[in-house]
Amino acid sequence: MKEQIIERLSRYVKINTQSDPNSETTPSTERQWDLLHLLEEELKAMGLATDIDNNGYLFATLEANIETDAPTLGFLAHVDTSPDFNAANVNPQIIDSYDGGIITLGTSGREINPEVFPDIVKVKGHTLMTTDGTSLLGADDKAGVVEIMEALQYLIEHPEIKHGRIRVGFTPDEEIGRGPHKFDVERFDADFAYTMDGSQLGELQFESFNAAEAKITFEGVNVHPGSAKDKMVNALNLANAFHQALPANEVPEHTEGYEGFFHLMEMNGNVEKATAQYIIRDHDSTSFEHRKQQLIAIQKDINSRYYYDPVHLVINDQYRNMAEKITPLQHIIDIPKAVYAELNITPNTAPIRGGTDGSQLSFMGLPTPNLFTGCDNFHGPYEYASIDVMTQAVQVIVGIVQKVVEK
Ligand SMILES: [Zn+2]
Repeated sequence: MKEQIIERLSRYVKINTQSDPNSETTPSTERQWDLLHLLEEELKAMGLATDIDNNGYLFATLEANIETDAPTLGFLAHVDTSPDFNAANVNPQIIDSYDGGIITLGTSGREINPEVFPDIVKVKGHTLMTTDGTSLLGADDKAGVVEIMEALQYLIEHPEIKHGRIRVGFTPDEEIGRGPHKFDVERFDADFAYTMDGSQLGELQFESFNAAEAKITFEGVNVHPGSAKDKMVNALNLANAFHQALPANEVPEHTEGYEGFFHLMEMNGNVEKATAQYIIRDHDSTSFEHRKQQLIAIQKDINSRYYYDPVHLVINDQYRNMAEKITPLQHIIDIPKAVYAELNITPNTAPIRGGTDGSQLSFMGLPTPNLFTGCDNFHGPYEYASIDVMTQAVQVIVGIVQKVVEK
């Protein structure tokens, strides 16, 4: 199976599918269709029924091969790659039985040094795919796409493996936060699903942040500084006062685990007008709401000191902690856990300090934990995939498929 995975992954990563946050369309870039259309052809060639909509959500069905009332199971992966780094002319390199040392990335001058990326020693002895140092690899999330395709191929070639109805979905624009944007949960028609979009072996993620963003505008009053007494309101000082009122330790650089934060992303301005942009993150929904209230309280406090309201605040919710929807359905977690145990994979259920497509899909009616893909150092030239771990991810998919009908 390793040879097939290498062949398929090499083929998919060479197709540039970078998404674009500045585009208004879905998919955000035309080039995502190149891979979507190829996958549609390959799914049809396997004998699967496919359905794709105008927004680039490609779904397919592997029908049950037994009489069963088992739930319909879904597997999802995204076709786009990150806009953060060059994604053109991806030239994958294969390393056989990695020796645990420094990996030179082509002639780019870049290297993967275990002193800088200590996690790479976990895949010592594995077959790896890396970049040539000039682009990202895009194994995020083409590794997930490959694993789903290989699992389907395996199930078709092994009809003795009994399974229920399986839906697979390949989706656009995850990297720009719009993955579930136009996902038609009703059309997908699965009882629950797994995104194949994690990183290291064993990851089984079902707790994410609750997330919101805050956009703040500070309106100042500009007067000649020589005659400004009791007249000038400096918007930069307002912005500074606002920021100082937030707890200094509740920032990304001082938090971990279940600790939430306020993150100042951007601050701009002059005496007349200033703007600030924050993201708010917390696993706990009560404490998340409290953080939003804290911002409103600071706004009110500053405004109360002036004869007009200089601080304008807009808070937008982004996604929520999927645990709220997933943990009441314990079997969705127990099934992959049991499969990991059979394959001798230690589960890592640490809460993620971020979100996945599942964070939104779970609230849209499709509970969706996230599983490992075997790739690491996403979104840049140091990205790599372990073909060995990808093989285990395929086994996990096949294992889950079997486990669901055993229940
Ligand atoms: Zn991804």
